[in-house]
Amino acid sequence: MPTLQYDGTQCPHLPKRKRKKELDPQTERVYRSEHNCASVAQLAPRDIPIFLVSICRSKIWQRQFKNVKLHLYFLPKRIQYAYGGVRADKKYPFIALPENAHGRRIHTIIHEVAHALRGPIRAKNSHSKAFCRVLLTLMRQFEGKDFATRLEKEFRKNKAL
Ligand SMILES: [Zn+2]
Repeated sequence: MPTLQYDGTQCPHLPKRKRKKELDPQTERVYRSEHNCASVAQLAPRDIPIFLVSICRSKIWQRQFKNVKLHLYFLPKRIQYAYGGVRADKKYPFIALPENAHGRRIHTIIHEVAHALRGPIRAKNSHSKAFCRVLLTLMRQFEGKDFATRLEKEFRKNKAL
């Protein structure tokens, strides 16, 4: 894996029990909603690139990144969290996934793709309401309407959206 440099969009998206760092209030609201309403569906590692190809063919992706490929990195074992964004130097969108169950979850993958779609924004806004809307659009299309509807309700209940 090449050494990556990130802009402010990286997402330390972690399973709740492993988080120690202070988060900004909006990120707390988003994470709380996701943990209350989590799909645990997972992909086999070999299916993750296939899943991402289908996302890159979608309207929401093509509108933002016409013919631009999403880069996928699998992280070394010591890194337990996922992140995604637009790489600062080369300006290409990427997601980076840990080699654990969290990294194989469809929900985690979609969450990080939503960061890549949001592009280079500041870390403190990385889980903004606009981010939630992009996430829900992707969820509706790639994880199912029922799940997206439940997550949207949870976002509203927690005032993330
Ligand atoms: Zn995130």
